[in-house]
Amino acid sequence: MVTPITSSARTNLLGLDRAGLEAFVVGLGQKPFRARQLMKWIYKQGASNFSAMTDLAREFRALLEQHAEIRTPEVVTVQHSADGTRKWMLRMDEAQGIEMVFIPEPGRGTLCISSQVGCALDCSFCSTAQQGFNRNLTAAEIIGQVWLASHELGFGTGEERIISNVVFMGMGEPLANYRNVLPAIQVMLDDLGFDLSRRRVTLSTSGLVPQIYRLAEDCNVALAVSLHAPNDALRDQLVPINRRHPIKELLEACWHYLDAQNGRSITFEYVMLDGVNDSPAQALELARLLRGRAAKVNLIPFNMFPGTQYRRSPPEAISRFRDLLNARGVIATTRRTRGDDIDAACGQLVGRVRDRTTVRLGQKLHSVAIEA
Ligand code: SAH
Repeated sequence: MVTPITSSARTNLLGLDRAGLEAFVVGLGQKPFRARQLMKWIYKQGASNFSAMTDLAREFRALLEQHAEIRTPEVVTVQHSADGTRKWMLRMDEAQGIEMVFIPEPGRGTLCISSQVGCALDCSFCSTAQQGFNRNLTAAEIIGQVWLASHELGFGTGEERIISNVVFMGMGEPLANYRNVLPAIQVMLDDLGFDLSRRRVTLSTSGLVPQIYRLAEDCNVALAVSLHAPNDALRDQLVPINRRHPIKELLEACWHYLDAQNGRSITFEYVMLDGVNDSPAQALELARLLRGRAAKVNLIPFNMFPGTQYRRSPPEAISRFRDLLNARGVIATTRRTRGDDIDAACGQLVGRVRDRTTVRLGQKLHSVAIEA
């Protein structure tokens, strides 16, 4: 058993949303409003040291030193891509590492974070899946990624903000780690936290249907769904969770999510695999599934990794597929590949998954991978 860096007798405040932090300060004999002061220091000033929090009473600061900490994952390496993309390898505990990516674009900056060490869902075209699953990240480790990136890039607010968008598109299946992902999302959206707009935090899921219904009750971030195939026979092969939650069920959950959250649309991710899912007939089949719905399709050119059996669809096949969808009234765009010179593109994040109990879908999914 490895000891996570974040586990110690002290509570890592990065793991607490506002309600959790209020309960924590009350437990220390303080008034709940102290939590607001703490959040401002942590997320607006970027303070990680209680001694810097000069408007807190000396005795309270001493209590915090004793019982609390503000601790982020440790940076092992940072790589810079020619296109400005940055990738960090972060150490989560003695044995495990995850990767995090920052993608600057004109007018916005997107941070791509991880929710698990490895992944259990076994999608056949994803390099994270090849590694198996080790463990869920804690809420502190998830929000710690955003804090750390803000620390490295600058804590800005309003128009000055450098990280304007956060996407759960790194390693792991966020809805399989619901319990920890939810408080982390709350801190991202909280105006005393990172104060991100709900449309600028995107949770990407392979399609854990029960958790989509649960999310619809609990929060209102943007949802992206890894569809990747227009029918069950093919999706069963590419995204094996489909055998448990087939496309029809998944789409019903998506439309429910939009209704419940008054959302604008759902993004359907579709990785373009040469000769597998990129034919004109498949584009038309996909259009029939999504036509008339508040849906957008984001085509992702497949990113290679060692040992994969797949190849990227040629650019003409991708644009033909996109044009066919658009012509049928389904909005489709192609995701620009970023950071591929440093293996930072979608599906290339590998981190360091040691000690893995190579858990694959169908073996232990309920007991281990989906700890909601
Ligand atoms: N577990 C979440 C987040 C995964 S990563 C999910 O399944 O949605 C974000 C996106 O990258 C997903 O749509 C995923 O299917 C896609 N992806 C995975 N491997 C890829 C690869 N090799 N090339 C391109 N996209 C890939």
